[in-house]
Amino acid sequence: MAKLLEGNPVAEKIKREITLAVQGLRQAPVLASILVGDNPGAAAYVKSQEKTAQELGIVYELHKLAGNIPEDELINFIIKLNDDAAVNGIVVQMPLPQQINYKKISEFISSNKDIEGMHPANMGKLFFGQARIAACTATAVMELLNSTGIDLYGKEAVIVGHSEIVGKPLAMLLLEKFATVTICHIGTSKAGKLKEHVEKAELLIVAVGQAGLIKGEWIKKGAIVVDVGINRVNDAIVGDVEFDAAEKRASYITPVPGGVGPLTVAILMRNLVEATRLQQ
Ligand code: NAP
Repeated sequence: MAKLLEGNPVAEKIKREITLAVQGLRQAPVLASILVGDNPGAAAYVKSQEKTAQELGIVYELHKLAGNIPEDELINFIIKLNDDAAVNGIVVQMPLPQQINYKKISEFISSNKDIEGMHPANMGKLFFGQARIAACTATAVMELLNSTGIDLYGKEAVIVGHSEIVGKPLAMLLLEKFATVTICHIGTSKAGKLKEHVEKAELLIVAVGQAGLIKGEWIKKGAIVVDVGINRVNDAIVGDVEFDAAEKRASYITPVPGGVGPLTVAILMRNLVEATRLQQ
């Protein structure tokens, strides 16, 4: 049976480090959080971020904007926060209303206040192996892998999902550790090749959002499985991997919920501390 790769113990360790780092700063870092409209998912992220910020001695400023705000007004609001020396980090909560293009918006957040690591300059630094601020979920996956103590050098890493927030940045972070990286996506599935890639994975990271996409019997014996997916099935939250069958084959596996999720907010706060240092 696999060992459970739980996010909370790793998150607690990171939070202790953040608390010490915050105490070493000239003043408490300030996170400006922008909530557009009243999406319940986005509101839940805000609550969890607010609570974590409070625990860590971080100032959390919430800016609630109308759901029908035009894109250029949101951009102007972001520019004001960029120019405000008292603000150290900016987060635009997802999901956003349809009139707002997140990719466009993220280009307007100053790269040294972009604590989600989505600005093209921060993505570019990641490409060059020089990132000081990287996408939170991808970094959370790396923290979980590191917590196993297993050397990633030369390991067959297979990522399922190629989004900008998970799959793509994660591929860069794994390359830095000299893992051999394969990225699967919808084209892989449509070509009927997903199973053959998953079967060779010593490190399998899945971030799609489809319950049961990865069959437990595909998991290589002894693989490390990190399931990023979040799906609601019959009032329960499950990942993308068939957990019960997979845990019989894997050496480590994340529970869903309780794996990657608890870590992402801690990484966001660590990125804020790093951004504050960059600004000093
Ligand atoms: P996303 O932007 O929708 O990306 C999903 C990816 O999966 C895309 O690359 C998509 O490819 C690919 N895909 C879709 N169907 C596929 C299939 N049948 N076979 C292989 N690949 C397929 O989603 P995301 O934002 O990366 O999130 C992915 C999942 O992770 C979601 O369940 C989300 O809720 C969860 N998540 C969890 C956390 C956390 O903190 N735990 C954080 C972020 C996300 P195409 O784009 O080419 O269709």
